[in-house]
Amino acid sequence: MTELRHIAIVGASLAGARAAEGLRKQGFEGRITMFGEEPWRPYERPTLSKTALLNEGEEPVWVHPATYYAEAGIDLRAGRAVERLERLDEGFRLFVGDEGVQADKVLLATGAAVRRLAGTENLTRVHYLRDWRDTQTLGNALRKSERVIVVGSGFIGAEIAATASKLCNEVILIEACPDLFPTVGSLAIREALRAAHARAGVSFRTGVACTAFEETSHGVSVSLDDGSRVSGDIAVVGIGVAARDDLARQAGAETDSGVVVNANFQSNVPGLYAAGDVAVTRGPDGQLTRTGHWRAAQEQGAAAAAAMLGLEIPQLSLPWHWSDQYEHRLDAYGDCLSADKSVLRREENGGLTEFHLSDGKLVGITGLDTARVFRPAVKWIGQDVWPNAEDLANPAIPIKKISLEVA
Ligand SMILES: Cc1cc2nc3c(=O)[nH]c(=O)nc-3n(C[C@H](O)[C@H](O)[C@H](O)COP(=O)(O)OP(=O)(O)OC[C@H]3O[C@@H](n4cnc5c(N)ncnc54)[C@H](O)[C@@H]3O)c2cc1C
Repeated sequence: MTELRHIAIVGASLAGARAAEGLRKQGFEGRITMFGEEPWRPYERPTLSKTALLNEGEEPVWVHPATYYAEAGIDLRAGRAVERLERLDEGFRLFVGDEGVQADKVLLATGAAVRRLAGTENLTRVHYLRDWRDTQTLGNALRKSERVIVVGSGFIGAEIAATASKLCNEVILIEACPDLFPTVGSLAIREALRAAHARAGVSFRTGVACTAFEETSHGVSVSLDDGSRVSGDIAVVGIGVAARDDLARQAGAETDSGVVVNANFQSNVPGLYAAGDVAVTRGPDGQLTRTGHWRAAQEQGAAAAAAMLGLEIPQLSLPWHWSDQYEHRLDAYGDCLSADKSVLRREENGGLTEFHLSDGKLVGITGLDTARVFRPAVKWIGQDVWPNAEDLANPAIPIKKISLEVA
């Protein structure tokens, strides 16, 4: 590779912004161009389903102050989507409108797009939530609605239902799986969340899938696969996302529901990197890991910057997702869904921690309102620790006094 003069970042959000910042912090003096399809500078998404949805006019949390990019010499092109990416003999060409921009290395930080249900394409009363514009549109619609249908009880659907319950009289949460909150790896915590939603007046339909949406001038009616129908003023669908990896495919990179990258966030195309929600990391055992969480985007952006400069990348966290619903804080760290045994710890104040064990080794933790247990215990994960299961379950034993067998 010849001299590294120009790095292009596609996607001006958390991973992209942290990468641009990381390049400058680590001494890169060449050109950095960051293309963002959205008309704003990079912001963080977590408040979009929480306070920014609830409070009219609340701005998102910006990743950097408005003056940062010019001061750091980062050419932020907000409102400019990269339409095509071409691999050259040396470097890449990015097509943005009628402009062709050449770069030596490219970082794809294009994130993910919401999955849409067929038949909802032209319906104005069926909403999806991914960006700040969606938050503003949905917030306005919620403020005018009495009865709202939320489809999907993953993290986003559950948060939208919690926020909607503060703005609307009736919220109906529909989940295709037999149980609510299928991405939460603890039955006790799922039950606690269900109780919190029920207390707020949310009603549930589980084990039913939506088959059709019909819109009238004053509402929307959703047909379910058990033959029933639910109607409301609006519906909001939160059924997951799909990585925006099309540019990677155009450039000849391997994709598997995301851009497949190695531990240095490099794809199989030299000079082409990916970080954040669009990336899928292949571990040494060949296993693919996708994250889709704030912390991963934050850390991977900075790590990819180091890797693009040929520097060593820092140790990254395991997957760590949090969610705020009502007054409750949910945290999930590590592998919370495929462990062979789980141990529940119930604090006197109602806090719940589920420890996930594989062959007795701690591999994940799901916690509800238990920061004082969760935070010290996550440090054991990834350190080959076999905690005593009876101690874990006993809230009378402080977390730091639990007997541990360490490899
Ligand atoms: C409503 C909501 C709430 C969330 N809450 C939480 C939470 O509580 N906790 C948590 O851990 N995580 C949460 N997340 C997840 C977290 O926000 C994401 O993991 C994170 O935003 C991923 O960052 P990213 O930079 O990889 O991608 P994104 O944030 O998706 O950004 C990608 C950017 O690239 C742009 N782009 C795409 N293609 C192009 C192109 N061709 N040219 C130019 N620009 C392009 C997109 O428009 C977008 O701005 C939430 C997500 C959402 C949507």
